[in-house]
Amino acid sequence: MVKLKVTNLKKNYGDLQVLKDIDLEVKEGEVVCVIGPSGSGKSTFLRCLNQLEEMNGGTIIVDDHDLSKKININKVRENIGMVFQNFNLFPHLSILQNIALAPVQLKKQTKAEAKESALKLLDRVGLSDKANSYPDQLSGGQKQRVAIARALAMNPDIMLFDEPTSALDPEMVGEVLNVMKSLAKDGMTMVVVTHEMGFAREVSDRVIFMDGGYIVEQGSPDEVFSHPKNPRTIDFLNKIL
Ligand code: ADP
Ligand code: MG
Repeated sequence: MVKLKVTNLKKNYGDLQVLKDIDLEVKEGEVVCVIGPSGSGKSTFLRCLNQLEEMNGGTIIVDDHDLSKKININKVRENIGMVFQNFNLFPHLSILQNIALAPVQLKKQTKAEAKESALKLLDRVGLSDKANSYPDQLSGGQKQRVAIARALAMNPDIMLFDEPTSALDPEMVGEVLNVMKSLAKDGMTMVVVTHEMGFAREVSDRVIFMDGGYIVEQGSPDEVFSHPKNPRTIDFLNKIL
């Protein structure tokens, strides 16, 4: 079953064309990693997928909802979890409150239900003992695991990750990637922008290489990493590997 279907997606900021013509189909349970140089449009692409940015052309269909039509975007967005590079936790709320806030505010759960599921999610990301701490009492890796738990609290059926480990000290990258690996193993549909090539190779079903607002090459991890065809992919991989 197709979860996400993007056709001829275009996005510009003024005269700057950032996404030129993007096509992508993601099936249920598929893990797609997006790689590519800085400025190639990876973040803009993710932001269009959950409508943090309005697109200028093309269509995005999420679970049969066409985002270019007048539909209740908020309902669609509730089913798409997003994790950012810089965690974006609410500093004045405890870890438990950070996780339980949206399900209660959007009336998906009562306070008691939200608290109970927040505790379960904290257990799942290995942070049961941090429920009553505040974000500034946590390490970067812990904060990012909370951010993942917070996104999961809305019971999304797609998770988008925008360089979730790029702001972390190296010793904390593994703990976040492990949480993401376990999500993938549980069948979550995921689109992950990452510079972690080891993760992309091990976990993804498909790797997408973006450059200059286009998907220049895509394939299995082995195809893209071991047998890249496009000169721009080869050049990029030579620089980073
Ligand atoms: P990536 O995530 O691949 O590094 P981005 O999607 O962040 O790339 O950015 C792609 C291009 O769009 C860059 O040239 C960037 O400067 C530009 N851009 C991104 N966001 C905005 C914005 N809000 N306004 C104007 N230009 C933007
Ligand atoms: Mg980016």
